[in-house]
Order: sequence, then C-alpha cells, then structure tokens
Amino acid sequence: MTSASGVPGVFAVQCPNPKCRKYMLVEEHDRGMVVPCLLCKTPIRVGGAPSGSSSTGRAPSSGTAR
Ligand SMILES: [Zn+2]
Repeated sequence: MTSASGVPGVFAVQCPNPKCRKYMLVEEHDRGMVVPCLLCKTPIRVGGAPSGSSSTGRAPSSGTAR
C-alpha cells in the first residue's frame, strides 16, 4: 500500500475547522491520538481511515437547515 506522500507509515488528516481545512501529515503511531492543527490549533482526531465514509453526524436534509 502506497500513500500519497510517498512516505510509508504517513497519512494525511484534514483539519475539522471549516475555516481552516488544512491537510496535515501524521505518522502511523499517531493513529487514535489527537493532534493539534498547525494553523488553528484545533484538535484533530487521527483515525485509521480517511474521513468521509463513516460517522456522519447529521444528514444533509434540505429544508430544516439553519
Ligand atoms: Zn486547522
């Protein structure tokens, strides 16, 4: 398995801050830990899989969105 950065054991996480959204590279041993964003210091939960597929908090329902 090859990562996009070309460095083995390193993968990217995205800052959850909607005003930041910076991608950062974290190492394999950081999995399951919380690392602060380099820009906005927002704690980023390092998961095993890239975000987007699971744990969707709220459904994008149209109409009742504030
Ligand atoms: Zn950030």
